[in-house]
Amino acid sequence: MSHWALLGIRFLYLAKLAWQTTRAIAPKLPPQMSKPANETAKLPLIARKLRKNSVGTFVAISLLNVLPKLQGLDQGRLATWSVQARNQIGTGHLPDYIPLLAAADPTWLAVQVQRIDGQAAMVGNMRQPFVLMSVMKPFLLLFLLELLGQDAVFKHVGMRPSDQSFHSVPQLMVDEGFPRNPMINSGAITLASHLPGATSADRCDKLCEWLNLHAKSNFKLDEQMLASVRSLGNEANRTIARLLHKAGHLDDIETTLDTYNHICCLSGNVSDLARLGLLLAQPRPDISPLHQRIVNALMLTCGLYEASGEFAVRIGLPLKSGVSGAILAIIPGEGAIACYSPPLDATGNSVAGLFLIEQIVQHLNLSVFN
Ligand code: GLN
Repeated sequence: MSHWALLGIRFLYLAKLAWQTTRAIAPKLPPQMSKPANETAKLPLIARKLRKNSVGTFVAISLLNVLPKLQGLDQGRLATWSVQARNQIGTGHLPDYIPLLAAADPTWLAVQVQRIDGQAAMVGNMRQPFVLMSVMKPFLLLFLLELLGQDAVFKHVGMRPSDQSFHSVPQLMVDEGFPRNPMINSGAITLASHLPGATSADRCDKLCEWLNLHAKSNFKLDEQMLASVRSLGNEANRTIARLLHKAGHLDDIETTLDTYNHICCLSGNVSDLARLGLLLAQPRPDISPLHQRIVNALMLTCGLYEASGEFAVRIGLPLKSGVSGAILAIIPGEGAIACYSPPLDATGNSVAGLFLIEQIVQHLNLSVFN
């Protein structure tokens, strides 16, 4: 069905709802809720007309809400904000525990704002590949929800936000080996152990194939990055895996850690990431709407680790970041914003990526709470 036909149906539905609601509540309004005549008279003509006709008001507001807000974005504005975003990168740092990430060019910057109708605005180093790192976590969760169902998945991972860093060992100890949510390392390492396949490479391939098939993206394993991740080991992740094993949430520590490292090294460009975002942006026949809702809710509450609450207020969208500098925002019913800029803030979120997303969201009124 075309985009306009869908909008038409949504509009008629909202108009019907407005009519029914107004009829249902109108006779029940207590007398003190109607404004005195002299106060109403002070309002401008248009406001008085709208006030007289609450159906009209409701329908007008509904119409404003169903028109795609992303239509207001043009390439020029995106370019201006990208220049401003680049000016922020001095406050960030590159992660030092993965040598190839530490060698990234801090001035690389790419952004793609993808609409569900296929239109997109984009600026920057569009062809520059980067690894997903933790941005794969929502998609690992989505894949396993589709494969195993929510009961099987949430037996091994929680739904609670954490105020600790993404690789916090004390958090997992306090929680007695039960990973708090799928957006932090403990949760994703647990889920990685439930991917189907005999070896870590098989497991990564299965996830990658599924993503590329459904998102029409072109992700592939970055072998050099994987070698770099393996080169320094990661003591926090190893301790996390041991604690998870002890609590019975994963069986083979080595295969699980290696699977987790593989899937962190899935690589694509910012257009691939934007297309991935569309898996969560609108109802679609190939993915359960309940699973989309679960993933979006966990991205909103946990996707930026301990900064999630602050950015739920400032941005108000499901978000996920990774230490590569990748960051993804889902705009339910509208599309997705994918950014890549390597310098990170103290929490491990891309400085310029967050700046850009915040600009776009504020100017176009994209928060889900509007
Ligand atoms: N591979 C990284 C790690 O385990 C992913 C973390 C991240 O992107 N925040 O540390």
